[in-house]
Amino acid sequence: MPKKVLIVEDEKAISDIIMFNLKREGYEVMQALTGTDGLNMALNENPDIVLLDIMLPEMDGFEVLEKIREVSEVPVIMVTAREEERDKVLGLETGADDYVTKPFSMVELIARVKANTRRTIAAAKKPETSIKIGDITIDTEVQSVVKNDTALDLTQREYEIMVYFAKNQTKVISREELMEKVWGYDYYGDLRAVDVAMRRLREKIEDDPSEPKLIITKRGVGYYLGK
Ligand code: CA
Repeated sequence: MPKKVLIVEDEKAISDIIMFNLKREGYEVMQALTGTDGLNMALNENPDIVLLDIMLPEMDGFEVLEKIREVSEVPVIMVTAREEERDKVLGLETGADDYVTKPFSMVELIARVKANTRRTIAAAKKPETSIKIGDITIDTEVQSVVKNDTALDLTQREYEIMVYFAKNQTKVISREELMEKVWGYDYYGDLRAVDVAMRRLREKIEDDPSEPKLIITKRGVGYYLGK
């Protein structure tokens, strides 16, 4: 089954070039030219990944992302025209999985699309199992994370971070390692994506996020599991 990519981009020429390159890589591609259409297609056409421009007519990329995240955990790569830190951080805070800055190379874009859709295949190969971290139980068959009998509402990436920690219970894991193993690439990645993801994850799994007991920071080194 080819993976479906939704491109939300109002500049038709750019969208067409991206579509051409993705199709050549074997992806099925859908295009939306406005924020409103993008949102509708993201929610109704079951894309495997969304490439989301920020400056869009009708509804900007941040608003589209926010509305997608109310109901869907589909991977989203933000496409920003400006090399502005606040755009990147805001995108990640809103729930984007990744971002690229225009102008980007097709090689870079395709690498990111691959990295962010790869997990579906990896997940399909996993044997059924359940892993415990403290009072949290991870079920890798149904991809659920449960704490005190309550299912936690984690994004796919947060789930994968939990699984990675669960499989490496005794070691200290650096941000670089998390970026490489969970995000799936190291060269293009920005380590702040790891910091933001870890903060959001802690807000969901820790009793007191300001004093984490499950995933603990080893300053200057990385993270490790508490006992
Ligand atoms: Ca635009």
